[in-house]
Amino acid sequence: MNDRSELLSQLPLRENLRGLSPYGAPQIDVPIQLNVNENTHPLPPTVVEAIAQEVAKAATNLNRYPDREFTELRELLADYLGHSLTSENIWAANGSNEILQQILQAFGGPGRSLMSFGPTYSMYPLLASGTDTKYVPGVRADDFTLSAESAAQQVREHQPDIVFLCSPNNPTGTALGLDVITAVYDAMSEHNGMVIVDEAYAEFSLSSTKSALTLLEGRQRLIVSRTMSKAFGLAGARVGYLAAAPEVTDAIRLVRLPYHLSAVTQATAVAALKNIELLLAQVEDIKTQRDRIVSHLKELGLQPSVSDSNFVFFGGLDNPHAVWEGLLEAGIIVRDNGIPGTLRVTAGTESETTAFLDRLAELLGAEK
Ligand code: PMP
Repeated sequence: MNDRSELLSQLPLRENLRGLSPYGAPQIDVPIQLNVNENTHPLPPTVVEAIAQEVAKAATNLNRYPDREFTELRELLADYLGHSLTSENIWAANGSNEILQQILQAFGGPGRSLMSFGPTYSMYPLLASGTDTKYVPGVRADDFTLSAESAAQQVREHQPDIVFLCSPNNPTGTALGLDVITAVYDAMSEHNGMVIVDEAYAEFSLSSTKSALTLLEGRQRLIVSRTMSKAFGLAGARVGYLAAAPEVTDAIRLVRLPYHLSAVTQATAVAALKNIELLLAQVEDIKTQRDRIVSHLKELGLQPSVSDSNFVFFGGLDNPHAVWEGLLEAGIIVRDNGIPGTLRVTAGTESETTAFLDRLAELLGAEK
């Protein structure tokens, strides 16, 4: 035990937090950062200018608390999502991490449980422990797929209060079929449980993939969570949101902190959404780079998963950590999720992607 963890252990920390590690994707300052699935394209200058103007306007009123209901933002988000959703169906928070936390605060907590199907987003168990919700680790098949039958059977066995379905899944990249979501929803209906589909990467999906937004109508306990961090390229602004029945947003209002979305955050998101076409113009290029990575990795004899996201998960590496280090030496950081034989890489700009593919080929050549 180092000095700090010794000191930490002296504090009257909640029992269920003892011995845990915080979320810790490395933030290393290297030229090519392909490790946390950000949009690596900088914002178009027109959007930067629009945000600066809207924020300057908000700054004149910063002596006042912001609109607690962020009405304009909810309206713009509803328009963006379509599917006949209105502002009554929308809630937003500081990143979709906070959305997920608020859902757990409202529907989880002591004596309640959250289930998700690993390998999946590493924050789910941490959000569970932070809200004192029991985490139930569901499993996927060996190839990381999840069938409707298996998911429903695991839900019936454990009867969790909440299920998080990550689609497209982080870290594996592949989306779930809507049959999996409806099967889980039906199994959860037997004990009145909540189902959340985390669609952080939805905008990058293959055209054949359908969003769970199409399932919201008539399903009171279904929530679709989204973010402005990925396709919109606004990870630094911290804006996530959800679409659900209006009464779900009322449940969240019971746990949110008053004025949780700052006036600066609201102004940034509103300005960005007013320029949505410019922002989303990057998505096609990112998908092109993603598809390029998939086909090059196959040529290198590796096994990339089908990707509906802005990243590619690939197996077939004898020594992923050595490859991770070799890339880092060349100023490229990717993600090692600790899954044997695999790494995950975010699709970068064209030149970043080229640098990654060239260095990887070199490293694999050197390994043989
Ligand atoms: N869900 C998934 C699946 C993610 O990968 C991430 C970020 N890596 C998030 C939610 C949270 O993103 P944010 O808080 O930036 O919206």
